[in-house]
Amino acid sequence: MSTTAALIAQRMHRIKPSPSSAASARVRELQAQGRDIVGLTTGEPDFPTPDHIKQAAVHALATDQTRYTNPDGTAQMKAAVQLKFRRENGLDYAPDQIIVSTGSKQSLFNALLATVEDGDEVIIPAPYWVSYIDMVLLAGGRPVVVSCLEEHGFKLQAEQLARAITPRTKWVVFCSPNNPSGATYSAAEMKALAQVLLPHPKIHVVSDDIYEHLIYDGRSFATMAQVEPALYDRTLTVNGVSKAYAMTGWRLGYAAGPKALIRNMAKLQSQSTTNPSSISQAAAIAALTGPQDFIATRCREFQQRRDIVVRMLNAIPGLSCSTPQGAFYVFPSCAGLIGRRTPAGEVLRTDRDVILYFLDEAGVGVLQGEVYGMSPYFRISTASSLAMLEEGCRRIGRAVARLA
Ligand code: PLP
Repeated sequence: MSTTAALIAQRMHRIKPSPSSAASARVRELQAQGRDIVGLTTGEPDFPTPDHIKQAAVHALATDQTRYTNPDGTAQMKAAVQLKFRRENGLDYAPDQIIVSTGSKQSLFNALLATVEDGDEVIIPAPYWVSYIDMVLLAGGRPVVVSCLEEHGFKLQAEQLARAITPRTKWVVFCSPNNPSGATYSAAEMKALAQVLLPHPKIHVVSDDIYEHLIYDGRSFATMAQVEPALYDRTLTVNGVSKAYAMTGWRLGYAAGPKALIRNMAKLQSQSTTNPSSISQAAAIAALTGPQDFIATRCREFQQRRDIVVRMLNAIPGLSCSTPQGAFYVFPSCAGLIGRRTPAGEVLRTDRDVILYFLDEAGVGVLQGEVYGMSPYFRISTASSLAMLEEGCRRIGRAVARLA
């Protein structure tokens, strides 16, 4: 074993780099080499951060808010989070039930690392956001993946949840609207899942609400602690400003839940990143307490893009795409392409082969369903201009037409 190999901890072999970051980096690399690539991999709004939020950051800089803050967030930021939960979700949290982190990803990471022990099981409905799996693995836990079929709208069914529970189950992770499928649970659907959990007092729930405001066709948003108050004490409600306020680069998220859990998440955070950025917290306060109307305008734009992309994909023989209810992704099935032959004579055997073919032959970057735990599908992000999305779909159509 080389010295460097011996240096690296065993736990690092359990996890992989984020595939969506890697795919976006690959798209940028090919573009830098002069290739004409339509990149539809990114998981971040293409809109700018609104001006009033940027101005709040400028003001924070000008007034020297540039020092360490409380590890779990400033009092003002926690007050803004409290207000948000009350206003939008009817949920009451005390300041010591709230943690502010460097992205909601850090809140999730803290929660899983602070609670999951060797062999503990975490139920993760697929398709899933890839990072849940790696966080559980890093903590020494066992992800229990439950496939949510397209004919069920990619949603977990109560019987499936009941079957997945064992004495080792520690968490169930819900994400609605879902990345990558866009599946969005109604309050009734969520309540049915809650009923399964009520008799299991040791099981806790992660409610990843990061796509809360990206929800279509007049649907309303539901979150577990609100839908089933009996689970309030066992639910960690996770959210952040990345997606709704187009603030991915500011790295600011938050979570609320049981005091003892939050206290331990804060302990962990105090020994890793110390505190979320003071400037980003000031900006996030403006986001959560300022005007909210631009969110609906942007949401309508995402819905329009979704409609066009779904229609264009469904017109391509071999692809079929159901209409996502939220988030900014579409998740078409490419089952009809599996077994077909490329002009170079290669047989497409997996969704990975399909997306590599799209990249090489059509110059379109998308992500294979395999990384989200469901094949044969692929994910297209609609967080690109309509012109790019239409061009991407046209290119995919032409590449599919060339398959034998
Ligand atoms: N949860 C889901 C489902 C996501 O898709 C993402 C980002 O892509 C996150 C959480 C993390 O968001 P952030 O750390 O930017 O708040």
